Amino acid sequence: MSTIFTKIASGEIPSYKVAETEDFYAFLDINPIVRGHVLVIPRKIEKDYIFDIDDAAYSGLWAFAKKVAEAVKKAIPCKRVGVAVLGMEVPHAHIHLVPLNSEADLDFRKPKLELSKEEFTRIAESILTEYGKLQ
Ligand code: AMP
Repeated sequence: MSTIFTKIASGEIPSYKVAETEDFYAFLDINPIVRGHVLVIPRKIEKDYIFDIDDAAYSGLWAFAKKVAEAVKKAIPCKRVGVAVLGMEVPHAHIHLVPLNSEADLDFRKPKLELSKEEFTRIAESILTEYGKLQ
């Protein structure tokens, strides 16, 4: 059994990649609440609940998210990058990174943005480029 996010990290299901390491993967949320809304996941750990992840992998996930957030901040004009952990839909631990200009930008109840493939691609490429500069 593998989750949709495991399949995304392996490339079996397509995604708009923004960063990756051997153990972690980051890609655009397909139903973004703002432009540049990113999900950060462990590739192989299929724990539903983030706080069930062992300490080493948990720390690694957040360290990776920190780097991805730095790239998001450079690529997407925003005051800061907000963080949320929900897990109400997909049972594979993940961190939401959300570019914020106001508190309201972190409202998951608002209608999701509908972006074209080209827009998703452009946003992902800009974050990926900034992530590359951090290496
Ligand atoms: P939650 O589990 O409540 O944190 O929400 C899961 C998030 O994953 C939602 O914001 C979805 O839009 C997002 N999502 C679900 N499937 C995909 C996918 N195939 N590609 C990108 N994002 C996805």
